[in-house]
Amino acid sequence: MNGRFFICLIESVSMANPYVSAFVKKRANGVCELYEQPAHFNDKNGKPYLECHHIKFLSQGGLDTIENCVALCVVCHKKAHIVDDPEDRLKMMKKAGFDNPLQEVW
Ligand SMILES: [Zn+2]
Ligand SMILES: [Zn+2]
Repeated sequence: MNGRFFICLIESVSMANPYVSAFVKKRANGVCELYEQPAHFNDKNGKPYLECHHIKFLSQGGLDTIENCVALCVVCHKKAHIVDDPEDRLKMMKKAGFDNPLQEVW
């Protein structure tokens, strides 16, 4: 569990391209892209706090691009790393703009 969390921290804090991260957060417009609920809280600048998540983990060869990233609330972000549910992954891929997400999964 510690190992996974560590990967997640590296991914969301140091490796995400700031432009990609800014783009997906703008696209999400303050709403988590997995469960479509508003962010749980605002950051100190009064902006909804969402985190940039790589659908295919960077550690698995995923790319740091807009198509591989979604903005998630802290709860969904944690779930995405701990559970890694294929259905969640599919939903996130659709949000991120994969034309045919099924092909990417199978
Ligand atoms: Zn993540
Ligand atoms: Zn969420």
